[in-house]
Amino acid sequence: MSENGNPCMSCGACCAWFRVSFYWAEGDDGGGVVPNALTEPLTPFLRCMAGTNGRSPRCRALEGEVGKSVRCTIYAGRPSPCREFTMAGEQGRPNDACDRARAHYGLPPLAPAGAKGVIMAEKRHHDASGCQPGD
Ligand code: SF4
Repeated sequence: MSENGNPCMSCGACCAWFRVSFYWAEGDDGGGVVPNALTEPLTPFLRCMAGTNGRSPRCRALEGEVGKSVRCTIYAGRPSPCREFTMAGEQGRPNDACDRARAHYGLPPLAPAGAKGVIMAEKRHHDASGCQPGD
């Protein structure tokens, strides 16, 4: 999720649709910046944001109402998948994952019409398989 004056501030769908997983050392007890108290163990090497590994994912760091007004309460300490996730249309590039998360909440895609065809990374660490859409 990006910050300041963009549609992400009234969206938050990606924070309440995907499992957000990352290498354990991104946690603040491993030298990283992600508050460990807001994470859950996933595998011996991976963690996820607390609340994102269930049937109805919602990151515990997300404040507000999806589709209305939201805020990441750990924005400066968010994990790499969140830093790398771009909103659809950002820098002229589509993001099907953004579109799908928004669609789940009845929100229209942000990408300009016709800007399809490139699938951006979902909310996951590059080496992890652990970011699955909620079901
Ligand atoms: S850490 Fe912040 S940006 Fe990442 S999923 Fe949670 S609320 Fe969203």
